[in-house]
Amino acid sequence: MAIYRKKPAEVERIRASCQLVFAVQQALRAAIAPGVSTLELDGLAEGMIRARGGRPAFKGYHGFPASICASVNEEVVHGFPNRRFLRQGDLLSVDVGVELEGYYGDGAFTCAVGSPSGPARHLLDTTRACLEAGIGQSRPNGHLSDISHAVQTCAEAAGGVAVVRRYGGHGIGRALHEDPHLSNYGPPGRGPRLQPGLVLAIEPILSLGAPEVEVAEDGWTTRTRDGSLAAHFEHTVAITEEGPWVLTLPGDRPR
Ligand code: MG
Repeated sequence: MAIYRKKPAEVERIRASCQLVFAVQQALRAAIAPGVSTLELDGLAEGMIRARGGRPAFKGYHGFPASICASVNEEVVHGFPNRRFLRQGDLLSVDVGVELEGYYGDGAFTCAVGSPSGPARHLLDTTRACLEAGIGQSRPNGHLSDISHAVQTCAEAAGGVAVVRRYGGHGIGRALHEDPHLSNYGPPGRGPRLQPGLVLAIEPILSLGAPEVEVAEDGWTTRTRDGSLAAHFEHTVAITEEGPWVLTLPGDRPR
């Protein structure tokens, strides 16, 4: 599949979907607390998405059973929401995907339930910083792997964390996952040139231990092999002449 660059009107439609992702994330952040189950969070997200005319993009995607991915502690990505109650100190990664009138938005965050431990805070801060570093390279005339390299470099500079290499970002817009695949590591200056109209989901995934992961028997839930904590932050970002435009945040123009 070739890389499809969006017209400005299409970027606006992707942004509408991404703004719904952001609104759902805000509601989830407010609801996340000890004693709440991830199944309740899933219901909250689905209700909100449908009330605003959208469709949960993950539900039914290759058979995924829920509206959000909810991954706790050593779970890395693609966790199923369930009835287990969140506890003080848990680390919860939530991924939200929305389709609104044919256009897709995708965003993820990780947060601590209550206060994080020191190492967990380092993991959260570093993963967020890696996403910011990747966004900073999302400019015309750069190359795709400049983003990859920025993520890897940021993680290595922080130390004490590993980039989970099995997963990466992706093009997005008229489908949830479009070309190109965006690796979270690698040398700069490789891959296609970044051009206005390219819309990418940038999503560093880091662990506090080793980078190896394994998929559970449910075929989806991914865990760190060594049981260490993992974090995941994701924004949908449009490349524009003026610079990166983070569509899953409220700002109505590029940075
Ligand atoms: Mg994604």
